[in-house]
Amino acid sequence: MNSPHILRMRHQWEQWRIESALVQDDAVAVDLDRVRNLAPLFAVLDGVLFLVFLYLLLGAPDHDPAHRWKLWSMWLHLGSCTCLIAMWAAARALQHRQRTWAGRNIGLLAVGTGIALVIGEVAVEQWVTPNITAFALVCVATSLAIYLHPRTAAWLYGSAYVAFYFALGWTQTNPQHLMSNRLSGLAICGISWALSVMLWRKFTIITLQRKQLEKANAELQQKQRELERLTRQDGLTGLFNRNTFTELSRSELARSQRQGSSTTIVLLDLDYFKRINDTWGHPAGDAVLRHAATLTSGTVRSTDLVGRLGGEEFIVLLPHTTIDAGRRIAEKIRQRLETSVIQWEGNRIPVTASFGVSSTTAAEKLDFDHLYTEADKALYLAKHQGRNRVV
Ligand code: GH3
Ligand code: MG
Ligand code: MG
Repeated sequence: MNSPHILRMRHQWEQWRIESALVQDDAVAVDLDRVRNLAPLFAVLDGVLFLVFLYLLLGAPDHDPAHRWKLWSMWLHLGSCTCLIAMWAAARALQHRQRTWAGRNIGLLAVGTGIALVIGEVAVEQWVTPNITAFALVCVATSLAIYLHPRTAAWLYGSAYVAFYFALGWTQTNPQHLMSNRLSGLAICGISWALSVMLWRKFTIITLQRKQLEKANAELQQKQRELERLTRQDGLTGLFNRNTFTELSRSELARSQRQGSSTTIVLLDLDYFKRINDTWGHPAGDAVLRHAATLTSGTVRSTDLVGRLGGEEFIVLLPHTTIDAGRRIAEKIRQRLETSVIQWEGNRIPVTASFGVSSTTAAEKLDFDHLYTEADKALYLAKHQGRNRVV
């Protein structure tokens, strides 16, 4: 019972079942689309056939032996046409409500109605001919047009066969024709189901592959964004790195000058940072750097630029800011840093920084490199005057 062959088949079956469930929603979306696009076409066809039968009825002599066939066919085609128009309207209305019961079942409903009506049509046709081509055409066409879960398709074509079997029994009086048609009907329903299953599998595989591709694509884009971010930001503190900061500062400085404002830059360097590393270790040093970065960005405006130039040196560009205002901001950062508490393994790491400030008015039009050199000189002075100060 548990031979490897059966186990493999069970595994395959289970795999198909899971995959089918994964694409169910996609199938609903396609089916809704197809009902919306195909229903009007078939409605027109039924409408034309209704008119043809009406014409045949009107032109026929009173005792036409085919009268009841024409009459029933006319009404059935009219019914079919009306149902298709209703399906088309429903599919349009349900376009954005695919998760409702009606949205999920509109494809099945359309196919079921189509098959029911064609069974009626071939049944009344038996009064004049043993032909069942219409039944074959509709069964095959529906199996190709609408994606149905194999289980649902089995129910559909199974029920269709039962209905076909009995409907023909009412109208076909010739036992040979009846038997031949019932056998053909069985083949038609079987073939339609097989086609439906094949199409469903193909749809499942293609949809899953598409989803996988979309997922891989999204991941790739995410990685690319992450990479771009890494090339622009400093990995430790999240601040702009030297290159990005310089690039952004040049355009920000030009804009500020165009608008007639002063621009100030503040350079800050942590004092005796080497000692922090030596005393508390490198991870503690990293924590201090992150702390200084957060504190600095938190003190300035969101429109100001903050960067890490490297090591324990940070830089801030303050557009629309005079040298005095810039010094006040630098002093605020200095005080906050001095009084801030950095806890490390139960101890408090004291940290201070020295600041160099430089500025240009719109009239002076000093460029970024000039400003940076001036701020660096001021920072050097601050270090020499005893550190923990703004110059
Ligand atoms: P000064 O007050 O004169 O600025 O003295 P300082 O010790 O701060 O300056 P110095 O340039 O002598 O030392 C800077 C130290 O910063 C040396 C280096 O090991 C450390 N450093 C640079 N980058 C990092 C980093 O990313 N993480 C850590 N933990 N330390 C760093
Ligand atoms: Mg330092
Ligand atoms: Mg330094």
